[in-house]
Amino acid sequence: MKIHEGMYIDGAWRPAAGTGTIAVVNPSDEQVIAQVPAGSAEDVDAAVRAARAAFPAWAATPPAERAARLTALRDALVARQDEVAATVTAELGAPPKPAHAVHAGLPVVVTGSYAELLGTYPFEEKIGNSTVLLEPVGVVGAITPWNFPLHQVVAKVAPALAAGCTVVLKPAEETPLTARLFAEAVHEAGFPAGVFNLVTGLGPVAGQALVEHDGVDLISFTGSTGVGRRVGAAAGGAVKRVALELGGKSASVILPGADLAEAVGLGIANAMFNSGQRCNALTRVLVHKDQYEEAVAIAAEAVAGHTPGKDVGPLVSADQRDRVVGYIEKGLAEGARLVAGGPEAPLDRGYYVAPTVFADVTPDMTIAQEEIFGPVVALLKYEDEEEALRMANGTVYGLAGAVWGEPGAAVAFARRMEAGQVDINGGRFNPLAPFGGYKQSGVGRELGAHGLTEYLHTKSLQF
Ligand code: NAD
Repeated sequence: MKIHEGMYIDGAWRPAAGTGTIAVVNPSDEQVIAQVPAGSAEDVDAAVRAARAAFPAWAATPPAERAARLTALRDALVARQDEVAATVTAELGAPPKPAHAVHAGLPVVVTGSYAELLGTYPFEEKIGNSTVLLEPVGVVGAITPWNFPLHQVVAKVAPALAAGCTVVLKPAEETPLTARLFAEAVHEAGFPAGVFNLVTGLGPVAGQALVEHDGVDLISFTGSTGVGRRVGAAAGGAVKRVALELGGKSASVILPGADLAEAVGLGIANAMFNSGQRCNALTRVLVHKDQYEEAVAIAAEAVAGHTPGKDVGPLVSADQRDRVVGYIEKGLAEGARLVAGGPEAPLDRGYYVAPTVFADVTPDMTIAQEEIFGPVVALLKYEDEEEALRMANGTVYGLAGAVWGEPGAAVAFARRMEAGQVDINGGRFNPLAPFGGYKQSGVGRELGAHGLTEYLHTKSLQF
């Protein structure tokens, strides 16, 4: 077991103020692999002070120089790609292939995209007799979840630094090791001291201290809707800017004109990716009644191709595993038809859950409404398009969705969906497209130019 003592504050690794620690567990074998400091309000205060002190100079640094540092950060992440992937596999349990390609690879693309965007982004705009200036908001408090330990960090830190903000990051307690690697990469990239700071710690302690700190101008939070609601209320009370990326219960709608086998097969693969621990997972599959039984058969065959311990990793913790198993039991109790999987552990060791498919799920069931965050798919049956739309939009969430069908009909349907992102006929993830939710899935957008504007104030000069 590796014991880490420092936190990255003001350009150096410093011991924590207190003695509390957090054990990091490998969810594949349940072994403790490392220990990191549990930061306190005092550590958060030191980090925020460092970020405040660094802000004026960083805000005044020309965009081209900020771009140069982000390019250096991208290169440092490339150099560490194998190490990041191995660390994500160790603390999250992601299988090596997606750990390398997605968990370690996507942040390289996103960091590079912000370095590039700075070459063209207009920080000034003319409106009549006004010049509108876009200025960095100030000190950003970034709070991230464990499901994509590096991507969630980079999706906040890269645009914040690009905008000219300085940052204090509080990563999820389950995955602090990847965040430490990120801090090392920032250091190597030559950012001035205090521009980026890392405090590891517990949500209700270090996270809450960051949200409540007077020296923080903007909180960007990704996590559960329950915590997000409290973070939003605290930020609102202090009249602080806030961005919230929360949960989802996204629908994949298969219209009668779709290629059913492709739509169901890719839908199952989507729901199993990262063991279903994705806020934008397509966890509800909506099928027309005439194609429903055929879709159930295709889903059963498709899910059999996903194997725990091979392409499907464990859940991140025993708590998450228990939560997901609880939902599977609830699905059975409420009368859904189990097509594959179930509540029994598929392996003797590790927090694994069997890839699970339920049919005959109705919109009123708990498993059709609540976010499960595990490898569990619900197949729902609709009579006509209007009912499909009511079902698709019939949850408190609105993060993502998918539509399969004849292209014109699919786009027309997508326009009526209450969701921030909709994939048409298997459209690929675009790391430059705005990502974020309608309704209780959140406030604000991440990635690309839209993600940058979250970190900018506007000021108008009249001539
Ligand atoms: P969580 O809300 O428990 O934790 C997220 C982060 O918030 C962690 O860093 C945690 O330490 C911190 N935190 C916890 N309590 C806090 C408090 N009182 N004050 C300040 N910070 C606090 O969520 P989780 O269990 O880590 O992640 C799973 C959830 O996150 C799921 O619901 C999922 O949908 C959501 N999520 C959303 C997105 C998105 O982009 N919309 C992405 C990933 C995960």
